[in-house]
Amino acid sequence: MVVPTNSVVQTGSNIRRVQPETPMHDLMDGCSRWEIPVHQHGFIALVDVMPRLAPVGQTADAAIVQAARVSYGDGTKQVSEDRTLVRYLLRHRHTTPLEMVEFKFHVAMPMFVARQWIRHRTANVNEYSARYSIVPDRFYRPSLENVRKQSSVNRQGGDEPIDAGTAESFLGLLERAEANYNEYLQLTEKGVARELARAALPVSVYTEWYWKCDLHNTLRFLSLRMDSHAQQEIQDYARGMFDLIKPLVPNSCEAFMDYEMQAMHLTRLEIESIKSGVPIQTANKREQAEFEAKKKRLGL
Ligand SMILES: Cc1cc2nc3c(=O)[nH]c(=O)nc-3n(C[C@H](O)[C@H](O)[C@H](O)COP(=O)(O)OP(=O)(O)OC[C@H]3O[C@@H](n4cnc5c(N)ncnc54)[C@H](O)[C@@H]3O)c2cc1C
Repeated sequence: MVVPTNSVVQTGSNIRRVQPETPMHDLMDGCSRWEIPVHQHGFIALVDVMPRLAPVGQTADAAIVQAARVSYGDGTKQVSEDRTLVRYLLRHRHTTPLEMVEFKFHVAMPMFVARQWIRHRTANVNEYSARYSIVPDRFYRPSLENVRKQSSVNRQGGDEPIDAGTAESFLGLLERAEANYNEYLQLTEKGVARELARAALPVSVYTEWYWKCDLHNTLRFLSLRMDSHAQQEIQDYARGMFDLIKPLVPNSCEAFMDYEMQAMHLTRLEIESIKSGVPIQTANKREQAEFEAKKKRLGL
């Protein structure tokens, strides 16, 4: 979809509607949403992006460059220069130009994923109301192979699959928790308030929301939730989110991977140990293990 150029539309009011100097295109190709299914019942869908229009041949990265240059004469700049500027901004944590790009997502996810997600306070959120409406009959259940064992090193995490017998028992427990749904429905039909009746539903039940966030804070979200230490289920959504925004801000996503996701932070103690060749000066076992993992990545 291309917008006409070089015209001023007179509206009869004092608003002067200036058309763009160069042809613009719709970054979502005229689509109402770009959607990626997640697990059996969930999805993450991009429903809008700001800017929605960009000069033909450019992406939403153009809005970052425009803000960084605080100028409107960017049409003549080379795309490669824009890429260099975006990479510079991310490397030097000059982040406000990244806030000029915004994304609006529609997401369906289990309650326990939503609990983690909502902690990212810089987004604007509007959630399905289980006070107002009946909760749909959708529950998260991992596959047998995806029932994870409690990690012995990370008290907050799971790691390899647990034996099939125990996994089956767990899936049975989930099924029994889901079975409360019919009673939930019946009791709401008998007049129990929906706001109370929902208390009987497990956190595997799905909720939905619209989630709007700027690029800077979306990348902060992705940095925490695409990380291998995040819970697998929220990682699956975060990866879907990254796939959705990548075509819209390719330079930013590339720089994010290079300078954040696949980069490494070294502490003062770690730098001193590498420089001197003596063991890291800390008795903290976890800190030592983290340093060993970094050295392994560095081939030391
Ligand atoms: C692996 C993992 C384990 C976790 N475990 C737990 C847990 O056990 N218990 C728990 O409660 N939470 C836990 N969390 C949540 C975590 O503590 C953060 O709340 C969450 O990751 C959101 O991060 P954030 O505050 O940077 O994000 P945001 O809320 O999006 O904030 C982004 C940035 O804006 C700043 N900011 C946001 N709001 C304000 C404000 N009002 N004023 C000033 N600055 C603001 C923040 O400081 C931050 O720099 C965990 C998170 C992860 C990734």
